[in-house]
Amino acid sequence: MPDIPFHASVLTLYPQMFPGPLGHALAGRALEKGLWKLDAVNIRDFATDRHHTVDDTPAGGGPGMVLKPDVLAAAIDAVSPTDDPRPRLLMSPRGEPLTQKLVRAFAQAPGLVIVCGRFEGVDERVIEGRALREISIGDFVLSGGEPAAICLLDSVVRLLPGVMGKHESGEWESFEHDLLEYPHYTRPREWEGRKIPDVLLSGNHAEIERWRRQQAERLTRQRRPDLYTRWQQRRK
Ligand code: SAH
Repeated sequence: MPDIPFHASVLTLYPQMFPGPLGHALAGRALEKGLWKLDAVNIRDFATDRHHTVDDTPAGGGPGMVLKPDVLAAAIDAVSPTDDPRPRLLMSPRGEPLTQKLVRAFAQAPGLVIVCGRFEGVDERVIEGRALREISIGDFVLSGGEPAAICLLDSVVRLLPGVMGKHESGEWESFEHDLLEYPHYTRPREWEGRKIPDVLLSGNHAEIERWRRQQAERLTRQRRPDLYTRWQQRRK
């Protein structure tokens, strides 16, 4: 077990959403074992007025509300002093797309500080002033950053030392080679008239390996031409 486990701090208006799914299965067992730790900090605790106001109307008009910079900055500063070595992220639909490459990089960090937005988003000045790195989990809009933070942490935690057994961490997983994963089968040998491909039952490991690779290439070419092109270019 590492001396200082990976430390995730999530800043949110809904701390009760954590650990949520991260408290179960692989990530949950790792949390119990102390392979990583998580605290969910309520941004509202850093509001200073009587009503604990965290948002205000957008300057320039328009719909919705914006998270106030002073309250959010106070929360960030309390959780992550300037010498904190952990990357500070903001979940944001206009951020850098999350990729397995980024996930691997985050898993090497001592931990993460993750800000979850709500409403229309957060005041731009706190993004600049606290050097928040904006990360998106895809080209769609969630109602808040919490599910995005959970996705990001789930993908990072499974890569932390000791979390996955060797047998679980297939080096053939989707995206590890810019290729999607090959199809899987298990018993029974025949189900509803559909058979497991013979090659997988042949015991010939070189053949199996070749078949899996062909399938991975076929699926990637069909479903993700963008990945397929990148993969071909990398092989040149
Ligand atoms: N008005 C914003 C959307 C705000 S959604 C816009 O049009 O860009 C509210 C919050 O949900 C955001 O602040 C962000 O924290 C989170 N969120 C929404 N979609 C997300 C995505 N695809 N990836 C990461 N976070 C997202």
